[in-house]
Amino acid sequence: MATIDFEHIDKIYPGGTQAIFDYNLNVADGELVAFVGPSGCGKSTLLRLLAGLETATHGTLRIGGQAVNALPPQQRNVAMVFQDYALYPHMTVRRNLEFPLKMRDLPRADIDKQVSWVADLLSLGGLLDRLPKQLSGGQRQRVAMGRALVRQPTVFLMDEPLSNLDARLRVQIRAEIGELLDRTGITTVYVTHDQAEAMTLGDRVAVMDRGRLQQVAPPRELYERPANVFVAGFIGNPPMNLFSARLTAADGGLNLHLGEQSWLLALSAPTVERWRAWLDQPLTAGIRPEHLHLVAAEAGGLRATVADAEYLGHETLLHMRIDGMAASEPTLVARLSGIQLFEKGETVRLSLDSTRLHLFGPDGLALTDGTAAADAIP
Ligand code: ADP
Repeated sequence: MATIDFEHIDKIYPGGTQAIFDYNLNVADGELVAFVGPSGCGKSTLLRLLAGLETATHGTLRIGGQAVNALPPQQRNVAMVFQDYALYPHMTVRRNLEFPLKMRDLPRADIDKQVSWVADLLSLGGLLDRLPKQLSGGQRQRVAMGRALVRQPTVFLMDEPLSNLDARLRVQIRAEIGELLDRTGITTVYVTHDQAEAMTLGDRVAVMDRGRLQQVAPPRELYERPANVFVAGFIGNPPMNLFSARLTAADGGLNLHLGEQSWLLALSAPTVERWRAWLDQPLTAGIRPEHLHLVAAEAGGLRATVADAEYLGHETLLHMRIDGMAASEPTLVARLSGIQLFEKGETVRLSLDSTRLHLFGPDGLALTDGTAAADAIP
């Protein structure tokens, strides 16, 4: 097993595209870090650098503490699984699994031992004599993982390994991969564009945008304390509501202005003190759909107009426009439990949970040292 260290990595492709900018990250021994971000953000480039299929333009890449920049792929003991897991179609599962070991000229007894270890690990025992075309998509994916694991790599790299599977199978295999990696304890980098996959699998999740690391943290911390507007909007489904807002001083506290309406924030004295530094600045406010609540008109919440409602059975996603907000601002989404019926154009009243409010400065960074939530979250 091994640690992985990215130290000030830049990657500029021939032709001048800079895919990675000053990337720094340490992956602990046995840890699973999910790299997530939109298409083109540089995830696969980082994986290819680790595998030795690309060379870093600047910086040092270490595996197990050893600089590997100049090491060819076969000397890195790194295994990789891609989305198009090409198995050899004319070889049985057993021969597919044996292939990487035969390439290394291992003695027959060792090959048999390793294949039976990996077949047990992945429950492939009953499938060893079948050809790939006689397997389901999920089984083929398991064989592909088996072929990567069979030579007991120190580092496991997975590049969108589930994107060819249908939604239900994806969830099942995702759970299997999580369990498998827990059991083997192999240090793993898992690349995906799907934030739900990253959040369910990763011990930590590294969010990237346009070649730069935006934040790396355990899933819960990423969700509750996004470091900037990009992470806030990327993690979560439906994503966090983000809108322009401004703070003004109120009697002993702070008012949040959203368009023509304002909301007196219920905050602790230290938070009021911290946020005072940002009075009258153009801020971005963020609130997750589950932290917006409907209230009775007498309760005096924010006025909003229903734009649309999605009835999902177990919950209703209510899309609204805050009255008096610029038309260029996005609609807000509230997550309500069960089925609740609404008419388009109906007026509703909203209350906003002040302690769940995130504020981001004009530079997009969360106010106060990456701690966006107004108060400590229990
Ligand atoms: P992701 O995996 O997040 O979709 P990639 O790492 O594949 O992103 O790509 C990052 C950026 O590098 C993109 O702008 C892409 O067009 C560019 N890129 C990737 N591979 C090459 C290459 N071989 N030559 C030139 N540019 C490349």
